[in-house]
Amino acid sequence: MFLNRLEIQKFRNLAPALYEPRPHRNYIFGDNAQGKTNLIEAIYLLCLAKSFRTREDSDLVPFSDESYFIEGDFLSDEQIPHHVGIMFDVQQGKQIKVDGKKLGQFSKLVGLFPVIVLSVNDYEITSGPPAQRRRFFNVLLSQSSRRYLDDLKQYDQVLKQRNTILAGAANDSMLGVWDDQLVQSGVRLMMARSNMVEELNHYLADFYAAITGARWTFRIAYSPNVGFRSPDEAEGHFKAGMRRASLKEKRQGRTLVGPHRDEFLFYISDNELRKFGSRGEHKSALVSLKAAEARVLYKRTENHPMLLLDDLYAELDKQRSQRVLDLFDPASQIFVTGTSLDAEMIESSAHLKEQMIFENGQMKRGKWDVHPGI
Ligand code: ATP
Ligand code: MG
Repeated sequence: MFLNRLEIQKFRNLAPALYEPRPHRNYIFGDNAQGKTNLIEAIYLLCLAKSFRTREDSDLVPFSDESYFIEGDFLSDEQIPHHVGIMFDVQQGKQIKVDGKKLGQFSKLVGLFPVIVLSVNDYEITSGPPAQRRRFFNVLLSQSSRRYLDDLKQYDQVLKQRNTILAGAANDSMLGVWDDQLVQSGVRLMMARSNMVEELNHYLADFYAAITGARWTFRIAYSPNVGFRSPDEAEGHFKAGMRRASLKEKRQGRTLVGPHRDEFLFYISDNELRKFGSRGEHKSALVSLKAAEARVLYKRTENHPMLLLDDLYAELDKQRSQRVLDLFDPASQIFVTGTSLDAEMIESSAHLKEQMIFENGQMKRGKWDVHPGI
């Protein structure tokens, strides 16, 4: 998937402009607080209908304005063009149009324009609580399979209903029905997560070795809340776990067994990253994870996901910085941002001849085609 044209009308601090990014590598450098991440965020929003930084659309509205509006033209790997427009007004809410048609449900956008972002918020994936890792897997699996997204929605819905009953706020005659549905969709989520971990692990060790100069390895271990070796076993263990927990669940008023309590453990060589990792190790692992995610998404969707690598070089030393971009498939469209200091540090790299310098919400100079002031 490629973004050919990005039209910013109103969005955070960005000046109105029409950008024509390059099909492969795009570098955006500049000082702090100039709007680099805002630009990345606008692209992400066009792909997934939400931001990676905020749940509130009103945050994206320029200060002292009432609405935002951005548009983009995409080209799929099979050369099929698509147009996406997103507008939001504090009074009227959000509206998304794909190829001129209004979307009823914003989740319909998920998977149409595969995208991967690396941002400062992602430090939570390797260092934060388990919910952050589950979220990472949910987003990746939802983009790669509509079935997973449907299962996840169903699971979350049933979980909510079940918790309402357990909290004593609803009649418990439905509990058995919800139990069955929870197990059915839950087992499918567990299988998909287990396969995904295995698939990511095919790439992770090599990618991590490539950044670090082959000195360490990186792998993920799936630690499901309900242990299993096969789908049948998963169903049996899930049901048995629920039976065992039933008194405790009623006491606590919530569901205690199931994939909403899964954990994923990240290991650098044999040490758990979350406990022992240095900042550079966290960053290297994250970048390897995103690069592996890109390979898996491509394999499953046959479309190269766009890569939005915000502050790619932050936390990495010079050697790792110089190697890091090699992890990403050169056939993909990549947007990389960095500070002016990063630009100096890796100046020798030939790619950087194509950089653009961002200042005060707009491009100051560079090699992109930009039509300011639309
Ligand atoms: P850094 O190198 O520090 O990451 P950046 O170039 O990525 O900087 P951004 O996060 O894009 O910076 O933010 C640029 C500016 O946009 C900030 O000064 C921020 O306060 C401002 N900003 C954020 N939201 C809005 C908004 N809704 N309206 C206007 N300006 C905003
Ligand atoms: Mg930034």
